[in-house]
Amino acid sequence: MAEDAVQASAPTAIKVELGARSYEILIGRGLIGGVGAELQRRLPGARIAIVTDETVARLHLHRLKDSLRSRAIDHTVITVAPGEESKSFATLTRVVDEIIAARIERNDVVLALGGGVVGDLAGFAAAIVRRGVRLVQVPTTLLAQVDSSVGGKTGINSPRGKNLIGAFHQPSLVVADCGVLDSLPPRTFNAGYAEVAKIGLIQDAEFFAWLEKNWRAMAAGWPERDEAVAIACRAKAVTVAADETEQGVRALLNLGHTFGHALEGATGYSDRLLHGEAVAIGMVLAHEFSAKLGLAPAEDAARVVAHLTEVGLPTRIGQIAGPRLGAEELMQLMAQDKKVARGKLTFILTRGIGKAFIARDVSPTAVGEFLAEKTAP
Ligand code: NAD
Repeated sequence: MAEDAVQASAPTAIKVELGARSYEILIGRGLIGGVGAELQRRLPGARIAIVTDETVARLHLHRLKDSLRSRAIDHTVITVAPGEESKSFATLTRVVDEIIAARIERNDVVLALGGGVVGDLAGFAAAIVRRGVRLVQVPTTLLAQVDSSVGGKTGINSPRGKNLIGAFHQPSLVVADCGVLDSLPPRTFNAGYAEVAKIGLIQDAEFFAWLEKNWRAMAAGWPERDEAVAIACRAKAVTVAADETEQGVRALLNLGHTFGHALEGATGYSDRLLHGEAVAIGMVLAHEFSAKLGLAPAEDAARVVAHLTEVGLPTRIGQIAGPRLGAEELMQLMAQDKKVARGKLTFILTRGIGKAFIARDVSPTAVGEFLAEKTAP
């Protein structure tokens, strides 16, 4: 505890206002060492089932365990293989079985220690075991800290598409220790960066301009990184509080995701294209498509391309490794996306940087023509 106390920065606390299901997001450095104390204070007596993946377990589990041990909190560890394949029924079955075997009751806690994969999987397990046990998210990737750990979307993939099986299940607490991001491979860090930039592109042109100036410092570490995580989490918290189950404004967070999910589907949810990389290309496509429709200035789309390229993210379909992707295949995948309502595609389009909006009746023909241009050799 003493070592962690020295390293820790005072956390920023952000509240997600959801009435009786409100919760806090704590953001800072060295916070994993204080999880035991937080749980003891907030959820006294709870037993903990930690769900993590092998990579995160190797790097960061010992500090969490030390912290729980120091407060004599009873816990068990369930480890899954790293990677998107773990968001499957087979892994869910094992995780649920181990949670039940550990006698985790409704007032106990499933604690997700890992990236978005672990968070989505453990969160869904927490939603369905005993019709819902408490969930604590300790996100360890940038993507998970700014996006997936907040908002209560949990789930696994179906062979027919991504995130098609799931539930809304809000956590009781999110602890984002920005120090753990130091061990992320640069490609994984960048993939998360796409979701940070997304917040600026949706609704905060000033934040996007701040990122254009400060992204190097943010990638290097404290304090810009913590600041960016806090800005992104605050924006997500406000959006989720306004529209918990995505009936309206929350859909804006899907900027770049309709194109992005199709690209992920076409590349088999594999290392060919990480989720955040798909979102980066998807956000560029959303800006370029909006410009093509005459809704947004072409210069803004060029600015998005320039920034994401500088950071090291892909911005073009042609940059995806492996066989060339075709417009028809992408259109078919989009038709299966959750964002389709009665044959019309719902897209998040934009009037410029920081001015995204929901377009509910985008013509599939216009999208098809646009993608034909973008996939042409
Ligand atoms: P991930 O969970 O697969 O993590 C990426 C890799 O980084 C893994 O190999 C993991 O073991 C490793 N890792 C994690 N933390 C590390 C650390 N601190 N140091 C070193 N390595 C570490 O991927 P992700 O990008 O975090 O999440 C992607 C998933 O999140 C997708 O399945 C996506 O659908 C989901 N997602 C969910 C939501 C939501 O609202 N629920 C939102 C966005 C994305």
